Amino acid sequence: MKYVDEFRDATLGRSLARAIAAEVSSRRNYHLMEFCGGHTHAIARHGIPDLLPANVHLIHGPGCPVCVLPIGRIDSAIALALDHGVILCTYGDVLRVPASERRSLLQARAAGADVRMVYSSLDALRIARENPDREVVFFAIGFETTTPPTAAVLRQAKATGVKNFTAFCNHVLTPAAIRGILDSTAPEGARLDGIIGPSHVSTVIGSRPYEFVAEEYHRPVVIAGFEPLDVMQSILMLIRQINAGQAEVENEFTRAVSRDGNPKAQALIAEVLEPRPAFEWRGLGSIPRSALRINAAYGDFDTERRFPIPYRAVPDHKGCECGAILRGAKEPRNCRLFGTACTPESPVGSCMVSSEGACAAHYTYGRHRD
Ligand code: SF4
Repeated sequence: MKYVDEFRDATLGRSLARAIAAEVSSRRNYHLMEFCGGHTHAIARHGIPDLLPANVHLIHGPGCPVCVLPIGRIDSAIALALDHGVILCTYGDVLRVPASERRSLLQARAAGADVRMVYSSLDALRIARENPDREVVFFAIGFETTTPPTAAVLRQAKATGVKNFTAFCNHVLTPAAIRGILDSTAPEGARLDGIIGPSHVSTVIGSRPYEFVAEEYHRPVVIAGFEPLDVMQSILMLIRQINAGQAEVENEFTRAVSRDGNPKAQALIAEVLEPRPAFEWRGLGSIPRSALRINAAYGDFDTERRFPIPYRAVPDHKGCECGAILRGAKEPRNCRLFGTACTPESPVGSCMVSSEGACAAHYTYGRHRD
């Protein structure tokens, strides 16, 4: 398959592995965080850790949007569906995330709530048009990649005068989360020498928003595509920077990412959404200006203005290590529930739900190495 197989070529992969091994210094360790869940999945699926020297450590980051959604926000969505009688629309993985008392949106549906899975924000708007006598809420989650479609559908709802449609906005921002991790003073916080930067997110925001990581924190960043050779090449680029004592933002994914990103998408987001003063992340706590809310001009389409849904912070389930995994402080094998009480079929924590979650990726592809 043109443009995919080229980035999965085994011969090239082996030659990149040899180049990494040749450049790695035996006198030090390299702790590299792959921020994005897409990278976590690709690394596990293609067995990349097996191709690296033992002193190159890949650390999972918090870049799975389903994983970082705090329990309190899912509780709010369940309350909307059960107590306010709305049609609640969201993406499939979100339905399975355990919330308080291991309830989920799927269980709310079994209890009579009208919860529907959608493939896009447009599906939710269509459902609103088909049900003019019902309130329809789009439970919007995701990083910068999925934010433009939410902004676009709100603009469309306003332009066409739809009155029964709102979005419960939970879109979060990647650079703020990276700052939150680098600022983490938790004693078990991850040690990071470099970051494999998000690629799909960067097609929207570009590579420029990561320059503070190099300038203020003196850590290199390489924006990397999701194919195995992209990841291997980005690891080699990071190791070269680390060996040279450099800290720059480099772009391995030049076939899709530029320094400035997509200005049309950025303008669309700025028209409809604005930064929240702070937002709670699972595992990372409250991070300033790390999420978006709907602005006053689109306030009629903001679920949080239309319905009283007070937010309550809820701790993770007892025994679940999702928080530490999302901070890069632990690995799935460090959780005593992994593969026993917690499996993809019956997840206890959010990291086991989406295929991009560290626990689900490790369960599917890597647990035989434990
Ligand atoms: S195995 Fe399950 S409970 Fe443990 S950290 Fe992973 S998702 Fe959370």
